[in-house]
Amino acid sequence: MDDEDLDELYQELIMDHGRRPRNTGTLPDATHHGRGHNPLCGDQLTLALKVTDGRVTDARFEGHGCAISMASASLMTQSIKAQPVEEVEALYTQFHALMTGGAEVPAEVLGKLAALTGVRRFPTRVKCATLAWHTLHAALHPERADAQATTE
Ligand code: ZN
Repeated sequence: MDDEDLDELYQELIMDHGRRPRNTGTLPDATHHGRGHNPLCGDQLTLALKVTDGRVTDARFEGHGCAISMASASLMTQSIKAQPVEEVEALYTQFHALMTGGAEVPAEVLGKLAALTGVRRFPTRVKCATLAWHTLHAALHPERADAQATTE
């Protein structure tokens, strides 16, 4: 597969998740909550996690915003479900470095999240892609900032 085909595949994945986000809604038995806001674009998210025995057993979000922010939240919830919290934290750090610092992360670690790497070419949209992850980080660390994240 050449780069152009891959780009097209990634775009389709983002469009699909942007239009029909997975794992939306509330989680009545959630153990962690986070709220995120990207003032640059107006994206808003609330994230609910259920953590059992050190593992994220469920994740759901509600919000509104651009297709990239919704697709990113949708892909994120899929990639963190059933993962140990430690690995979720590691993925947050890696994804953030990937999107903001240009660090490379192996494709097998990223999985479908690789679709979002194309967003790096549009610096104003990077915050749309990282909002869900900042919100996740805030939800896992409520002691730090009232579980509120802004991308600024
Ligand atoms: Zn946005």
